[in-house]
Amino acid sequence: MNVLVLNCGSSSAKFAVIDPRTSKEHVSGIAQRLHSDGASLDWKFNGTKASKALPGAGHDEALRAVVTLLQDLGLTDDLVGVGHRVVHGGSKFSGSMAITPEVVAKIEECIPLGPLHNPPNLIGIRIAQELFPGMLQVGVFDTAFHQTMPEVAYTYPVPHEWLEAYGVRRYGFHGTSHRFVARQALVQTGLPADHHAIVTAHLGNGCSCTSVLNGRSVDTTMGLTPLEGVMMGTRSGSVDPAIIGHVAGSLRVPEQQVLDALNKKSGLLGVSGLSNDMRFIEEQAGKGHARSALALDLFCYVLAKSLAGLVVPLGRLDALVFTGGIGENSVTVRARTVQHLAFLGLELDPAANAVHGRGQHGRITVGTRPQAMVVPTNEELMIAMDTAEIVQRG
Ligand code: ADP
Repeated sequence: MNVLVLNCGSSSAKFAVIDPRTSKEHVSGIAQRLHSDGASLDWKFNGTKASKALPGAGHDEALRAVVTLLQDLGLTDDLVGVGHRVVHGGSKFSGSMAITPEVVAKIEECIPLGPLHNPPNLIGIRIAQELFPGMLQVGVFDTAFHQTMPEVAYTYPVPHEWLEAYGVRRYGFHGTSHRFVARQALVQTGLPADHHAIVTAHLGNGCSCTSVLNGRSVDTTMGLTPLEGVMMGTRSGSVDPAIIGHVAGSLRVPEQQVLDALNKKSGLLGVSGLSNDMRFIEEQAGKGHARSALALDLFCYVLAKSLAGLVVPLGRLDALVFTGGIGENSVTVRARTVQHLAFLGLELDPAANAVHGRGQHGRITVGTRPQAMVVPTNEELMIAMDTAEIVQRG
């Protein structure tokens, strides 16, 4: 039983064929730089990487090339469904859904909330429906896991009419990853499914953290858009919104330009002036580059403050989970963040942290309650598992 997982962005389409029963990933790859001369299809099969140029290809041509590749690899016969990552489901989706015309219409209604992501997600759905007629397609939403947040967590203290009129509320993102690692943490710790208080920190290029109480998201750091919350690679995270008017007025540029800078030129990149890449920032900080050192300090400080805040809705902390490229790989970020949170009873185990917690059930602290741990995320597998579940339900 295999599932094709698709994640279509504006200029890329990531794909993987996964058997959700065994977690085996048969093939994974990306069609990237779409709509340009340098467009290509790159994939990994049986540990071997390969690539094919697709000059000028758009999503249509790229996905057709993916299907041809899957046919050549003999991977289309056992396909039972296609799982699509959909970024913004607004308040309309609280779980993964079989794609129907009604579901497509609702995803379209969410375009104002996710103008950059939902349109390419919809393109992927349309093309996959054409390429696999009659096959079940499933939408898995980044926002769905957070639909269990209570009103007090999702409401902004702004004129309340904005909620009804414009959907102004906190939605949260990275839900598929938070859900996956929170589940895995239960397996690793033995915490009961109906009694646990976990904070998950997904730290990649985008970063968000979530409070998970007994399997449900009860608060998260991202909001209406993925700009809110902790400091990220190029996004500022939460800042005083008055900065926008102030800088736009000072520079005499449109406010949208300042908003773009908060999304694309801030975070690690903005503070360091060098890069959005944490590995590089750590290297430069180590060589004495002052603004990289500040970026690293600020990242861990802001993160720790947010994580501490996320314990409020839980009332206690059983486990703090690090995941994503930074969370899984940066010994330094984990160490500093845990040290900031010593007052919660977390005591770093430097040796365990240095080996990513491997061989120690991922635990990077001394003692088990509370504990901090590393859990590698696998959003594609979660999408494949959701898709298979919906296929089996019929
Ligand atoms: P995305 O959100 O695009 O999926 P990833 O989850 O792959 O991104 O995370 C990318 C981030 O992880 C980058 O900032 C990268 O520098 C960081 N990273 C990867 N490996 C390491 C490492 N060994 N040490 C520190 N940071 C790392």
